[in-house]
Amino acid sequence: MVKRVLIANRGEIALRIIRACRELDIETVAVYSQADESSLAAQLATQALCIGPAKAADSYLNQDAILSAALASKCDAIHPGYGFLSENPDFADRCVQAGLKYIGPSGDVIRKLGSKSAARTLAQSAGVPVVPGSDGALKNLRQAKALAEEVGYPVLLKASAGGGGRGMRQADGPQDIDKAFQEARSEAVACFGDGELYLEKLVVNPRHIEFQIMADTQGHVVHLGERDCSIQRRRQKLVEESPSMALTPALREEMGRAAVAAAKAAVYVGAGTVEFVLSPEGRFYFIEMNTRIQVEHPVTELVTGIDLVKEQLRVASGLPLSFAQEDVKVTGHAIECRINAEDPERDFMPCPGTTAFLHLPGGPGVRVDTALYTGYEVPPYYDSLAAKVLAHGSTRLESIRRMRRALEELIIEGYPTNASLAHLIMHDPEFVRGRYDTGFLDKNLARLLELARTCDRLMEGEEKL
Ligand code: ADP
Ligand code: ADP
Ligand code: MG
Repeated sequence: MVKRVLIANRGEIALRIIRACRELDIETVAVYSQADESSLAAQLATQALCIGPAKAADSYLNQDAILSAALASKCDAIHPGYGFLSENPDFADRCVQAGLKYIGPSGDVIRKLGSKSAARTLAQSAGVPVVPGSDGALKNLRQAKALAEEVGYPVLLKASAGGGGRGMRQADGPQDIDKAFQEARSEAVACFGDGELYLEKLVVNPRHIEFQIMADTQGHVVHLGERDCSIQRRRQKLVEESPSMALTPALREEMGRAAVAAAKAAVYVGAGTVEFVLSPEGRFYFIEMNTRIQVEHPVTELVTGIDLVKEQLRVASGLPLSFAQEDVKVTGHAIECRINAEDPERDFMPCPGTTAFLHLPGGPGVRVDTALYTGYEVPPYYDSLAAKVLAHGSTRLESIRRMRRALEELIIEGYPTNASLAHLIMHDPEFVRGRYDTGFLDKNLARLLELARTCDRLMEGEEKL
């Protein structure tokens, strides 16, 4: 087993990795930027090392600094978490060249799947359905126009290197395609330093359904069921749940088989996620594979009882997975709400600040993954994710009730968050019925925010009851 792991990340995921390591008696080295000196990860790790200034480019993305820290502190492995260097094939290669185990798939596998247009081709070769669109990258705008006519509008122009909902534009007809092409390309260059685009037909009113995969170096590839991540804003996930109300047992089995086939075609090793869109008619299409641990992985942990980060550590140590496909049993239902330091009233603008007071929910069936504490100053330099609140129940309705109760217990003072919005979503009839798609939030946001404002005015006594 690996003995000492450097965690090349920050925030809640750094803590999550430290916790798995402690339970396995593995030592940890936290690296932190100057803005994260007082972070919980730096305090709870076996050792902590500063790797540079606040800006991510100078710290959490600084490969030389991270590799030197790992060697100087005698680590034998590096866990990249999510975001930052977690999908950078050159970093994975450099870890191995430096004699360190990279906790994730090899650089070659990340490279193959990191280009979303190449991953499409790979999925197709494994017999996994993809959305009608381009074979590989687009050469130019003219080709995009011809293809859009062929597959039919509306279409999406997507960055091959894209992630986090960035580098993607919709064209509803020929009048939009020039602008969509230019905008997608410039965002792709600005965010990923790579302007390569591909084209997909837009699946109208889809659900986002993803399958958790685990694979070991002995060739075992298993899936741990799905997560429904259709509650999104700007193509970023806000609420995730498992199992999905949209899948029948037969469809679940078929999609699970497709996810495993895609992973096998990539000769995948480690934890990964195969993402699909599912049309209202029940047809599913591969959209991408994420080659890392996912933000929403605890949803799967709650319903399967399997610790995904521990399995990652086992696999990186060369051990086989601790379970086989037939051992994976989904029990009850789990939901996650991502609580971000942002203001829904100001177009979800990130609002970092000092955590003046914090009270976290607890009790039966509740899990909170966060790196916050009272007095903690949320730095403005990184992602606005502040806490992941999860609820597990024996039925979906019980997990919804638990989530409502957990969000009522949660107190974060010092900056605005989307917690009230999440609470209202848990009361929305369409959500409660489980009848929603990726358009849910856009369609309902104005109404939900108005509800929140009215409730606030009543509670504050500004409006008569
Ligand atoms: P997940 O399903 O795991 O949330 P995402 O694609 O949303 O997958 O990315 C996970 C995390 O990675 C985000 O919360 C963010 O920290 C980081 N990330 C990914 N892509 C970007 C990006 N383009 N810009 C900034 N952060 C990103
Ligand atoms: P990212 O790499 O940024 O996560 P994805 O390709 O996974 O990008 O797409 C992000 C989201 O955009 C999906 O969860 C889904 O809501 C939407 N989306 C992507 N492709 C399509 C498509 N072809 N049709 C409809 N919606 C799509
Ligand atoms: Mg995605």
